Amino acid sequence: MTELNLVLLGPPGSGKGTQGERLQEDLRLPYYATGDILRAAVRDETELGKTAKQYMDAGDLVPDEVIVGVIVEALESAEARDGFILDGFPRTTPQAEALDAKLADLGRAVNAVLLIDVSDDEVVRRLGGRRTCEQGGHVFHVDFNPPKVEGVCDIDGSPLVVRDDDKPEVIRKRLATYHEKTEPLVGYYDSRSVLRRIEGERKPEEVEAEIRRTLSTLRLQDEAV
Ligand code: AMP
Repeated sequence: MTELNLVLLGPPGSGKGTQGERLQEDLRLPYYATGDILRAAVRDETELGKTAKQYMDAGDLVPDEVIVGVIVEALESAEARDGFILDGFPRTTPQAEALDAKLADLGRAVNAVLLIDVSDDEVVRRLGGRRTCEQGGHVFHVDFNPPKVEGVCDIDGSPLVVRDDDKPEVIRKRLATYHEKTEPLVGYYDSRSVLRRIEGERKPEEVEAEIRRTLSTLRLQDEAV
């Protein structure tokens, strides 16, 4: 595989962010997490942030055209020339089609999609206990990965908060949105033979190991063609 154009797919709380950051270091590819990009825009009170906030707080998706614009700009940048990792995008069929169209313009295509499989019950457990660092977005969990000092980020010392969209009623809404709008992408990418399933209800290290194995198998298959 000359370049890796990778999409991480899975419900909120499936570990896409955790795995994406590890992969980014490993593969040295730019990592675009649309949720992080949008939260930064909300924090900085940019036009994008002002548009996105109302949708995010309600557990809804921001409109396709808004987020597609953000990603197209990222993919046109020089750093994404040899590949990229997308987390949280695409999340709807029109977004997937827009991504395909943009990549086709560039003579490229999505060549790996990893579906990190996690049940709804596990999502609720994970997101309900998630605490996020206000400053850097670092993530902890009250039971599974507690910070050394309660309420304080180990990495930069800033306060840990419950994201507005990690409140119980919003978690349920985000899951419903995932099933309705994003899950159809499993079939979309499966029919293009790029989808690989990863069992996500395991320790992050085990999930990471399976992702590595899967990516190296894809590479071998690609070289054999
Ligand atoms: P995340 O951190 O990926 O769970 O994203 C948080 C929120 O940002 C989502 O609940 C959506 O409101 C918004 N968002 C992130 N990515 C997208 C996308 N690709 N399309 C629409 N909305 C998005």
